[in-house]
Amino acid sequence: MHVRRGDQVAVIAGNYRGSRGRVLRVIPNENRVVVEGINMRTRHQRPSQANPEGGIVTFEAPIHASNVMLVCPHCDEPARARKRHDPDGTLERLCVRCETPIPVAEVK
Ligand SMILES: [Zn+2]
Repeated sequence: MHVRRGDQVAVIAGNYRGSRGRVLRVIPNENRVVVEGINMRTRHQRPSQANPEGGIVTFEAPIHASNVMLVCPHCDEPARARKRHDPDGTLERLCVRCETPIPVAEVK
């Protein structure tokens, strides 16, 4: 997978082309990602135990990972990332444009 949870990504294809959002979830088996505010779906939910009110629920549906690009936080552009081992052996991602390491977001 070329993106991780918490990454800022740009959508490069489909209805949401040009928008950006944060990766909420990655589904490696299906090569899909869920991005905040992208690919919204509406469900008309019958009242249930979990949701006694029912009503109209909107949520993000997964999109294919190939349709998003990682956004470099340093140059604020969609960019590919090069991988490199830093001196203490951890894998680092470098923006191909500005060569700045792209940090992995803290998972809350
Ligand atoms: Zn950059």
